[in-house]
Amino acid sequence: MVKFRNIVPFSGLILVACSPGATAERPNVIYVFPDQLRNSSLGFWSDPEYASQVGWRGDPVLTPNLDRFASESVVLSEAVSNCPVSSPHRGMLLTGMWPERSGVVLNCMSERPESSLREDAECIGDVFAAAGYDCAYIGKLHVDHPTPNNPQRPGTYVSDDLPEWDAYTPPERRHGFNYWYSYGTYDVHKHPHYWDTAGNRHDVDEWSVQHEIGKAIDYIRNADGVRDADKPFFMMIGLNPPHSPYASTDDCDLEGYAHYKDKSASELLVRANADTTMAKTAAAPFYFANVSGIDREFGRLLDALDRAGLARNTIVVFASDHGETLCSHGIVDPKNSVWRESMNIPFIVRYPGRIPHRVDDLLLSSPDIMPTLLGLAGLAERIPRSVEGRDLSSVLMQSPVQAERPQAALYMRNLDGERDAEGLVRGFFAEARGVKTLEHTLELAVDRAGRLTRVRLFDDRTDPYQMNNLDPARHSELFARLSGELARLLRESNDAWYRERTLSDIVPYDN
Ligand code: CA
Repeated sequence: MVKFRNIVPFSGLILVACSPGATAERPNVIYVFPDQLRNSSLGFWSDPEYASQVGWRGDPVLTPNLDRFASESVVLSEAVSNCPVSSPHRGMLLTGMWPERSGVVLNCMSERPESSLREDAECIGDVFAAAGYDCAYIGKLHVDHPTPNNPQRPGTYVSDDLPEWDAYTPPERRHGFNYWYSYGTYDVHKHPHYWDTAGNRHDVDEWSVQHEIGKAIDYIRNADGVRDADKPFFMMIGLNPPHSPYASTDDCDLEGYAHYKDKSASELLVRANADTTMAKTAAAPFYFANVSGIDREFGRLLDALDRAGLARNTIVVFASDHGETLCSHGIVDPKNSVWRESMNIPFIVRYPGRIPHRVDDLLLSSPDIMPTLLGLAGLAERIPRSVEGRDLSSVLMQSPVQAERPQAALYMRNLDGERDAEGLVRGFFAEARGVKTLEHTLELAVDRAGRLTRVRLFDDRTDPYQMNNLDPARHSELFARLSGELARLLRESNDAWYRERTLSDIVPYDN
C-alpha cells in the first residue's frame, strides 16, 4: 500500500545510493525457497533461545547449517503464505500483488488457462534488472499456464502427459531474469530436467537440490563468465523438495535419511496435534531426510559465497512457498488450508552489519516479500505502483523510523470454477477466507451458493496446535473483532468476497 511506503525512512540515503556509479556497491540478493517446507522443520526451534519465542515444538530434524545461518540472521516466527499453495504464492512473491491481480489464482496446469502470471506484470526480476542487476532464476517456477510451446518439439507440450503440469518459460515471459535454468513443475526428484537460457533442455540424474545448488555455485563463482561481474546479482533458487512424493529412498536424500530411518512415527511427529496412526506417517523419515539434505546443500551455497568473498555484501533469504501439515489434524492434504502448519513459512534473512540477529514475530505476508527485498537492497523508490504488499525492510533492519507492523494477515483458499464444454476450468471459486493475527486464526468457508459451511476459530496463544475450535456464539466479542478485521483486509485487497459481499450477514464489509 502506498500509504505504508511513504513511511519508509531514509529517502535521502536511498537517493544517494541510487545515483549513477553507486551500482557496484549495491548488495547481491539470494532468495532460496524450498517447496512445502514447514517452519517447524528447522532444527534451531528446539534450541531454548528459539523455543522460548514460540508456543510450539520444533520437529526433531538436523539442520546444522541453517542453525548457524539463523544465528546470523533475523528469524521470523510468524511469516505466512496467505494462499498456501504453490502457484498463487509464487505469483504474489514475484509481483507483490494478490492472486487476482498477479493472474495466478490457482495452481497452474493446462486445464486452468486463466491461472497464469500476467505477462504485463512488473515483477521483482524486472525491477532488479532495471536497477542494473544481473538476474538469475534456478529451479522450480510454476507460475505459467502450460501451452504447446515445447522448444524441442514445436507445437507440443513439454511432455506427453495430459493434463500437462510442467511448462517451458520462453524468454519473453522471464521478467528480467537474464540467466535461466528452470522448469514449471516436475516431481521426480532424482531425475529432474531444466531449460536453460537458450531454451536447451537438460535431463539430469542427480538429486534436484544438489544439482541446482551446484548451478547456483557456478553462477556465484562465475568461472565461465555466466554473469556480468560488473553488476550486483539477484538470484532466486526454487528448490522442489521436500515437496511430495516422499514415499521411498528414490525420493529422498540418502545421507539425510540415515538420521531418521530407524525412528518411529511418534518419535518423529512430536506435536500434540499429530495423528501417528495415519498411513502418511511413513512419509516423515523421507520428508525430514530431504530437509537435512537441503540443509547440507544450503551450507555448500553459503561456503561458496564465503570463498568468493561476497558474504558480507549479499542479502541471503531462506523461505518456502507454504508449509506441510505432516499428519497434524489427521488430514492428508499438506497445504491449501488455514492450519498454522500449512500457512506458516520459514523466513530467515541475513544481511551482515545491517540486520541484527533475533527472532521476530513480524506478520509478513506473501505480497510483502517483493517490496521488502527491494527495500533491503536500497531500491524502495523503484517499487512499482502495482505492488499491494508493504515494504517492511525498515522493520527487519530495526531502522530508527519503521513501517507500521501488520496486525493481521489475510487467508484465502481458492478452488476450481466451473468447467466449460471442453473441460477447461473457467474462473475460480473463492471457497474460504480468513484472518491470522498473532493471537488468533479465523476461517469462514462457503458452498458455491454462498452459504456458510465452516467456521474455524482458534486461540493460537493458548492453543498453538489449534485443537480446540472455539464456538463463535460463546466468543461473540472475539468473533466480531476478527470478522471486522477480515472485512477490512478483504476491502483493502478488493477481494472477490468483498466485491460479492460474501457472507455479508456476518462479515461487516461496509462498517
Ligand atoms: Ca508448493
